[in-house]
Amino acid sequence: VRAKSDEEAAAKVAAANADSGGPTIFDKIISKEIPSTIVYEDEKVLAFRDINPQAPVHVLVIPKLRDGLTQLGKAEPRHVDILGHLFYAAKIVAEKEGILDGFRVVINNGPTACQSVYHLHLHVLGGRQLKWPPG
Ligand code: C5P
Repeated sequence: VRAKSDEEAAAKVAAANADSGGPTIFDKIISKEIPSTIVYEDEKVLAFRDINPQAPVHVLVIPKLRDGLTQLGKAEPRHVDILGHLFYAAKIVAEKEGILDGFRVVINNGPTACQSVYHLHLHVLGGRQLKWPPG
């Protein structure tokens, strides 16, 4: 596990590169060039296990088509449907994983929130007692 300061430094580098609009590691996961453990998939979204889980259940839900959604802060009216689809997929993931009684959905937006991949993703976390407030 990397130190918090490393997370912050990596997030700053990722943010500096974000506006290039270039592909991210998630494009390779969507194309299955990089293997992942898929929990749920439909025509619009993919849900797969986070490589560095922060809870017994830690799944990322992403749009297959980024369409400018590098981060939630870039959302436009045209994204409303996919945003709803992503949240509904998060519920399906929680149901499939058996954590409907208690789970958390997180979106880190920008370097101050330690976003490290500039392709919108919902973190679905659960399977243990979660603390509040988060760090
Ligand atoms: O919110 P943030 O941008 O920091 O989240 C990115 C997430 O993507 C991290 O939790 C990281 O572990 C995960 N990741 C992954 N597989 C990769 C690269 C990153 O699951 N190949």
